[in-house]
Parts: sequence; structure tokens; C-alpha cells
Amino acid sequence: MQYVSTRNSTIKRSADTVIREGISPEGGLYLPADIPALTADQIDTMASLDYTGRAQVVLSMFFPGIEATRLRNAVETAYASFRHPGVAPVSHLGDGIGLIELYHGPTCAFKDVALQLLPHLMTWAQEAGDDPQRIVILTATSGDTGKAALAGFAGVPGTEIIVFYPDEGVSLIQKLQMVTQPEDNTCVAAVKGNFDTTQNGVKAIFTDPEAQKRLGDRGCRFSSANSINWGRLAPQIVYYISAWLDLVSAGRLKPGEGFNVCVPTGNFGNILAAWYARSMGAPIHKLICASNQNNVLTEFIREGSYDKNRPFFKTMSPSMDILISSNLERLLYELTGRDGSRTGKLMAELKDKGRYQIDDEMHTALTRQFWGAYASEEDTAQSIRDTFREQGVLIDPHTAVGMHVAGLYREATGDTRPMLVASTASPFKFATDVLACLDADPTGDADGDIERLAALSGETPPGPLVGLSGRPVAHDTVCEPDQMAHVIDRFLSHRPEGLS
Ligand SMILES: *Cc1c(COP(=O)(O)O)cnc(C)c1O
Repeated sequence: MQYVSTRNSTIKRSADTVIREGISPEGGLYLPADIPALTADQIDTMASLDYTGRAQVVLSMFFPGIEATRLRNAVETAYASFRHPGVAPVSHLGDGIGLIELYHGPTCAFKDVALQLLPHLMTWAQEAGDDPQRIVILTATSGDTGKAALAGFAGVPGTEIIVFYPDEGVSLIQKLQMVTQPEDNTCVAAVKGNFDTTQNGVKAIFTDPEAQKRLGDRGCRFSSANSINWGRLAPQIVYYISAWLDLVSAGRLKPGEGFNVCVPTGNFGNILAAWYARSMGAPIHKLICASNQNNVLTEFIREGSYDKNRPFFKTMSPSMDILISSNLERLLYELTGRDGSRTGKLMAELKDKGRYQIDDEMHTALTRQFWGAYASEEDTAQSIRDTFREQGVLIDPHTAVGMHVAGLYREATGDTRPMLVASTASPFKFATDVLACLDADPTGDADGDIERLAALSGETPPGPLVGLSGRPVAHDTVCEPDQMAHVIDRFLSHRPEGLS
């Protein structure tokens, strides 16, 4: 299995290089040179395996260099931290709609599925590359990646983990989760600005030769825990394939029969994982891209023009408050017929002018596979209310965006195939907003709101979210975007040298 870059189809990289580097030196994203197809035998075998067994089959196709016992240990250790034995079970609402519950990991959002495994992949990649350098994981977060990356990499030997989040851009509970991470190898800082500012800052540091040299002098190298790292995407492909097999084994779908998938989207990572599942052979009919008020992707899918020059909205689904969807670059590469120089040109236009337009051929290929719409804040609130009152199911605001758009798709197309909606976070993680949507008064205090939501719904809140307000704050740095490199230097200068 070889990997290429979205901006250079001629380079060939091994899986371990791709995991270690995170992003290609010329700024492109790594992806498989050929997408492996599931064989009928593999599908048969996986049907009778549990989640971790299925994960091993799928992941071994992308990381054939990992020895089987090692992969099994990694997957089993990673998912032992999940509160549900099915890891990513599907629950069923009425009307052939299922929720893939992706929030049973330690930080209560779907990012855990990849980020509990990524440290194992990273350690393997370091060994496979015979790389003695310490890894510095550098991450921009819109709220959930940060905590999931901290939970995955805290205390991992030979690794430092640095998280930047937009000041005021994350929920109170998300912030508390991050700033109370106690381990010495963790650094968390707020950046004045929104997620795009934060993500751009991180990307600039990644590709800045001077920053890399300073790091090299310390015996370290950068890597990424954002979904620009292929090691983030590959584990997410598994749950779409697993959910499909579950639908078939529950008799809700005949083998080979098509279904739709609706994914609440920000950086285009999770829905791209579904696209890979489809490309590998899962019979996904339409990939439905659900945005919040920051609907840059809706316009792109409908009109073929991507334009980030638009107002930025702070919504109650903050993990999707994004105007520059990094992973779209991987899809563009596929839509250009895997043309690195054309993809690079589109990305240069995005950087210079903040917009680009794809041609008709690319747009036709796009709309054959994708459908897009968005939910306003009112739509999101209504969706939380309706799902709770009509189905007795509590959903978080991100999932609510997905539920609303799944309904719009059915209305617009009349397509009533079974639909899987990615349920990306626990409603307790966004307790304050969920309470407000259910017309219950929030208390304004994280613990209080979680308790109130538990009382209202009769559900038990996930353990990791209980008692957050009382934990000691370990990180209080706030910086300007142009100080991010300085924050990194200062943190690393306090870290012991040659830490193993
Ligand atoms: C990150 C996140 C999303 C968006 O996922 P992308 O991969 O960025 O599209 C949606 N919901 C929640 C809860 C998230 O944490």
C-alpha cells in the first residue's frame, strides 16, 4: 500500500511515513494511491466478527506493514476504553432512520474512535521508520478533537501534545475538558480568533522551515492529530462498514441493497471516511453532507463554487463552525481524476482569493455521490425537541443538524432508503444548549446543566463529564494568532530533553 499527496501524484510514501509526517511537505494531504476493495470473502468474514475484529480487517488493508498481533492489541486496547461493547452501535428511530452512536469513547465525541487508536499507529510508525525523534503532536481544535487528542496522547512516552483552540469558540464543557488535562506532556492554549484562524496558524507552523528547524534542533518533529492525518481517517472508515453489516444482519437491509448516510460536517473528515467506505464496497447510495449555518459546503455541493468569503457564525454545534474544510482537498483530488497539479491550483486559489470554482465535469461527479443542505439554529433546536418528544431520544446539536438535513433530503428527493445518521457527540457534552432547546432553563454551570439534563431525560450522564467544574485548571494561556509558534517554543523549552 503506497500513498500519494493531493498536490503531487508522483511521490510515493509508505504508510508509516504518512502517519509520522501528517501532512506532505508541499502542503498536500496524503491518501492511498489505490483504494482497496473489500472482497466478498472479507465481507462474509466480517459479518460474524465484532467491532474490533472488523476494524482489524479494514485497517490491515491500509496498514499492511503492521504485524497482525500488534494490530489486534492496538485495536483492542484502544476500544477497551469505550463505554459500549459494540464501540459504535446503531440504534433505530422510526422511518428507517438509524443513528450510528459514535460518542461512547472517553471524551464523548466521535473523534475518540480515531484518536484512541492513533497513538498506537504513531508508535508503530516511529519504530517502522527507525525515527529516534520525539513526536510533537500539534493540533487545532474546534472543540472535540483537542480533548480526544489529549486523552489519546497524554502520558504517551516520546510524545508531546499541543492543542490550540479558538478563544470563545468552544462550549464551556469542551473548554473545561481540555484545560483540566493534567499530564506534563500536554500543552493547551486559547487563540484569539475563530477555528479557521487557529487551523491556519497550525498549518503555517507545520510548513514553516524555520519552525521545523528549531524543532529538529530539539530532537523533535511535528505530526498532526487533525483529520489531515490519514491515521485519523482510516479508523473512521470502519464504523460505516460495520454499521452496514449490522443493518444487513438485523434484516433491515438485503445484502447489496443501498442505504444513505447523513453526516454532520465541518472539516469534511467524517463524511470523507464514509466516501472511502463507499469506494471500498459498502453500498452507500447518497452521502448527505449536513452543515450548520456555516453552510459553505452546501453551496459548494449545489453550485460547484467554494467561497469562504462570508460571515462566520458561532452556533450551538461549534465543532462544525468551520469555513475552510481541510479534507475537501482529498475529494477534489479524486474529482479531478487524481490530478495533483489541478488540485494544487484550486488550493492556491482558495489561499489567495478565498474561493474557487470547479468545472462541470467535476460538479456532475460530485452531485452523483453527494447531496448537501444545512440547518439553521432554529432548525437544530426544533430537531432536538422533535427527536426527544416524538422518539424519546436525546441528541446533541451536531447530530440534530444531521437529523434535520436527513429529513430535508427525503422531502426533496422522495428517496426513502434506510438512512444512517452519524451521531457524533453525547448530548451531555452540550448540556447547556440542549436544555435551552428543550425549554428547560440552563444553570450556566457545567455540572449543574449536566445534572439537570440527566433529571429531565432520565439518562445517566457519561462518567468522564461528571464533576468537571471541580477539577483543577492546568492550562490558562491565551495568545494572539502570531504568538502560536512562541507558545510552542516556550512549552518545549520546559520539557526534559531526550524524554523517552
Ligand atoms: C468534529 C465534529 C464534527 C465534524 O466532523 P468533521 O470530520 O470535521 O466533518 C461533527 N460533530 C462533532 C460532535 C464533532 O466533534
